[in-house]
Amino acid sequence: MVLIVDNLSKTFGGLQAVDQVDLKVEKGDIHAVIGPNGAGKSTFFNLISGFHPPTSGKITFNGNDITKMPPNKIARLGIARTFQTTNLFEDATVLDNVIIGNRLRTKSGLWDAILRTKREIREEKESMEKAYQALDFVELTELANEPIANISQEQKKRVAFALALATDPELVLLDEPAAGVNPDETDGLSSLIQKMADSGLTVCLIEHKMSMIMSLANRIMVLNQGKRIAEGTPDEIKNNPVVIEAYLGS
Ligand code: ADP
Ligand code: MG
Repeated sequence: MVLIVDNLSKTFGGLQAVDQVDLKVEKGDIHAVIGPNGAGKSTFFNLISGFHPPTSGKITFNGNDITKMPPNKIARLGIARTFQTTNLFEDATVLDNVIIGNRLRTKSGLWDAILRTKREIREEKESMEKAYQALDFVELTELANEPIANISQEQKKRVAFALALATDPELVLLDEPAAGVNPDETDGLSSLIQKMADSGLTVCLIEHKMSMIMSLANRIMVLNQGKRIAEGTPDEIKNNPVVIEAYLGS
């Protein structure tokens, strides 16, 4: 198992955003997380990636207990994520966004700002190479020097994928990658997600677009009001009355 989530909970004040959720993700899986708005999906990703400390429960990644680790350490161990809203530096180029993003995600800040050792410089070369590899993977090499402001929404989503891939992850958490993209432009993003899995990455995917989920995912977890109400193959989930009720009731 790449990822084992055990009895994970998060409360915000009186709100139980994630409520005793268990999840096991196998290497090479495309494991979807679905559920109505406010179900706790993004919070669940925030817990795995270290952006919020869990209230209780345990997260194990490749045998390491990452429950209390900070985001940069988790990123270095091999978990990358994209955000529901893509926050890129609009005036900077595609390439610079990937390089800067990589630093912001994997470094702890202060120390790096004041220390530029030989190792640092070598790492910088590496991060440039990683950035180019990632842009090649998402098929944006030709736009490397284009400012973000000049590219389409779908291309920005590809940049967000590249940001995640540049940290050299084993597990990628994609939070609504197709949100805000024209419905007729989502096929390319689907192909990229499939390409990630085909290249050996493990993917967890939050998405509302059901056709995308049903064609990509090999497993689906359904959250409702913080609780896991179902988990299974797309066929099992499609025919599960509990899931249908959760969506109709929302
Ligand atoms: P989803 O991604 O499934 O739409 P979220 O995980 O974003 O749901 O939110 C789940 C619940 O937790 C919502 O009620 C939301 O308002 C609340 N929530 C999320 N993040 C925070 C936060 N940082 N502080 C307080 N409440 C939050
Ligand atoms: Mg969300």
